[in-house]
Amino acid sequence: MIRKTSISILLAASLSLGGTAVWAAPPQGANLQSDQAFDNKIVKRIKVENIYNHIAELSKVPRVAGTPAEDAAVEYIKQQFESYGYDTEVQEFNIYSYTEPSLIELSVGSMIFDPVPLGFTYGVNGEVKSELVSAGIGAPSDFEGKNVTGKIALIQRGSFSFAEKILNAAKAGAAGVIIYNNVDGVINGTLGEPNDGYVPALAITKEQGAALIEAMKDGAVTATLKVDGAKTDQAVSHNVVATKKATQKSTDQLVLVGAHHDSVDGAPGANDDASGTATVLELARVFANAPTDTDIRFVTFGAEENGLLGSYEFVNRMTEEDYNRTVGMFQMDMVGSRDAGPLIMYTNDGKKNIVTDLGAAAGARLSNTGEATPYGMEGRSDHVPFAEIGLPAALFIHAPVEPHYHSPADTLDKISLDKLKEVSTIVGAAVYQVLRPDTPALKNAKVAPKVVDYNFEERELEE
Ligand SMILES: [Zn+2]
Repeated sequence: MIRKTSISILLAASLSLGGTAVWAAPPQGANLQSDQAFDNKIVKRIKVENIYNHIAELSKVPRVAGTPAEDAAVEYIKQQFESYGYDTEVQEFNIYSYTEPSLIELSVGSMIFDPVPLGFTYGVNGEVKSELVSAGIGAPSDFEGKNVTGKIALIQRGSFSFAEKILNAAKAGAAGVIIYNNVDGVINGTLGEPNDGYVPALAITKEQGAALIEAMKDGAVTATLKVDGAKTDQAVSHNVVATKKATQKSTDQLVLVGAHHDSVDGAPGANDDASGTATVLELARVFANAPTDTDIRFVTFGAEENGLLGSYEFVNRMTEEDYNRTVGMFQMDMVGSRDAGPLIMYTNDGKKNIVTDLGAAAGARLSNTGEATPYGMEGRSDHVPFAEIGLPAALFIHAPVEPHYHSPADTLDKISLDKLKEVSTIVGAAVYQVLRPDTPALKNAKVAPKVVDYNFEERELEE
């Protein structure tokens, strides 16, 4: 899962979906019996100890994208897939890894800013002392008719990237930029691609931004900003892709099952997201020998934590043919923490789709609560790029997430076998509903997968 502050488009309009269920509850009986029989072909073969052991292996060190630790994880994942008999492809792609500034200083008139506890983690190196000029959100029109030459532009976060704001300010002649948050909390931006056009910049909180604007009402305000140690390095990240062709009566359809193998700096990422990666591996092992009429592709993405870069790369490389035959995408991120809430399926638009229908139906049979898995609305993982190109996709995650995610405390000892078992069996059974040869292809279905009543929940990822 990526940090909330890494995405600029999170504050979506309020939902009108409510908790209304579109489908009527199905009659129980013969249908349920056969579903259980089918589940057993997959569910009974899933060994939760295997998932745990993969997590143990993967979470020995943080797996930051573009580092040797990611390379080692990729090699491990590839070897596992190959040992199950899969054709495995490693997709390489370039990323920019951002190192946070080692020094940030800001003083404005008599106001002294203490950067460290406030998390000034965004910065462009340099030192400037000059007058502050308020410049809206930093769009080109915000600089029209204003003399910002040699001055420091004070810009609100939002609508477009920090990089664009800084470049717009620089183009207008500004010597430095201060970006203040438009929501509460700390800004954890990244620089993106290096650019010679940048001027020194840093980010402050919403509250601090408001204080500066207030101070500017009383006349000219001079700020001194100093940033050092921030840098971007080019690196290579990877997706690992394992494909199994249908074994009989092929429908020519395709199902995608994914997780991200990278973690953030300093976090062993046992739950985020070695848990999802390990579950992908175990499902791949189980499905390797199952009779299937649908192609399946297991993918572990790199650089999810850098802004879903691996999944965007995967989507960009998808052929039109694969796009047209993809039934759905199942993403698992943070699926094993004992300290997280219950399972939920998030879609990017907050609407049900075939993936949530299948997940809810499997949840009704296999969840810890004994109830159909609910759904909600959230981005922040690799289902997003698939949803954005119009494919049905959903994120399986426990929410609210554990408070210690993205920290050194995301370790193996907090992994719950019970939670791993629940998610792996639900996703495995849901996927098998499509892959099993004895159902017609979904598009031409005479016998639809059993749809259950399941509810929208307005549940937050973080408490
Ligand atoms: Zn994460």
